[in-house]
Amino acid sequence: MKTRRNFIKLSALGSAAFLTKSCFPSEKNTPSTTTSSKIVKPVVISTWNHGFQANEAAWKVLTTGGVSLDAVESGVRVTESDPNNMSVGLGGLPDRDGKVTLDACIMGSENNCGAVAFLQDIENPISVARKVMEKTKHVMLVGDGAKKFALDNGFKSTNLLTEKAKKAWEAWRIKSHYQPIINSENHDTIGMLALDNEGNLSGACTTSGMAYKLHGRVGDSPIIGAGLFVDNEVGAACATGVGEAVIRIAGSAIIVELMRNGMSPEAACKEAIHRIVKKHKDISGLQVGFIALNKNGEVGGYSVYKGFNYALYAHNKNKMVDAKHYKK
Ligand code: ASP
Repeated sequence: MKTRRNFIKLSALGSAAFLTKSCFPSEKNTPSTTTSSKIVKPVVISTWNHGFQANEAAWKVLTTGGVSLDAVESGVRVTESDPNNMSVGLGGLPDRDGKVTLDACIMGSENNCGAVAFLQDIENPISVARKVMEKTKHVMLVGDGAKKFALDNGFKSTNLLTEKAKKAWEAWRIKSHYQPIINSENHDTIGMLALDNEGNLSGACTTSGMAYKLHGRVGDSPIIGAGLFVDNEVGAACATGVGEAVIRIAGSAIIVELMRNGMSPEAACKEAIHRIVKKHKDISGLQVGFIALNKNGEVGGYSVYKGFNYALYAHNKNKMVDAKHYKK
C-alpha cells in the first residue's frame, strides 16, 4: 500500500523541487531533503581501479556536449581494449577450455537496451551490444549469432588471448580447480553509470567473466536487471563480482527499486548486499560489489568484502573511493 510517507518520498525523488548539492555517498535511508541550488551533473562512476582511466574518456564526452550513452560506451571501451587488463575484453582470462568469451550490456535513458553474451574474437563487445540495441528488435544476442552479427556490422575478428593470459591459463590447468578469488583479476568487471548535462542516465557493463569458468557460462554482466539497470526517472545501478549471486537477487534492478522507494544510492547498495548475504549459506569467496547513481547525481557503493573500490568523476575531479563493506 502506498502510505502518505512513501508517497511523499516518491514524489520528492521525481520532482525537480528535490535538489541536493553533494554527490558523495550518504548512508541515509531516505533522500536528503535539504534544498540547494543544483543537481550535481555531469557525474560518472565506474567499478574498480580500471574505472579511473575509463572515467577520463567518459568525462571527455560528457563535458564536450556528449550524452550519457556515448559517454559510457566510450568509457568502457578503454578498458576493453587494454591488453594488460585481464578481466575485460582483449587480454581477459579465458574459460577452462582456453577460450576468451565476453559478456556486455548497455542501457540508455529511454529504456533502450542491448546485450551480447558468450561472444568470442571481438574486442569491443559493448559496441556490439549497442548495435544490437539500435539495429535489431532484440535485446540480446549470444555466441556464434552475436559474432556473425558483429562481423556483418563491420567489427573485425581479433585473437583476444594474449600471451600473458595464455600463460596464466596454462598454469591454472595444472590443478584445474575453479575458485573465484576475492578482489582479484580472475574476475572484475567494469560497470559504468553516467548522468549527463541534460540530466539523463545511462549505464554499461562489460567483462570476460569469471576466469576458468565452464565453457558457455554466462554471468550477470550482460543481463539487464542483474549486472546493470537504468530507470531514467530514478537512477541506475551496476554490479561486479560473482555473477551467479547477483542474478539470484536481480541485483541492479532491486537497487533501482529501492532508490525509487526513497533510499540513497549507498543504502540501496547495502540492502542488496545484505540480501545476498542472507540468501547464501556460505559466503566464503563470494565477493560482490554494487555501485549506484541517482537522478540528483548522488552516488554510493557497497560490497560483501572489504577491498571493492570505484572511480567517481564529479565536480571536475576524478578520484577513487573505497566502498563500505559487510565483512573485513
Ligand atoms: N560479474 C562477472 C561475472 O560473474 C565477474 C566479475 O565482475 O568479477 O561474470
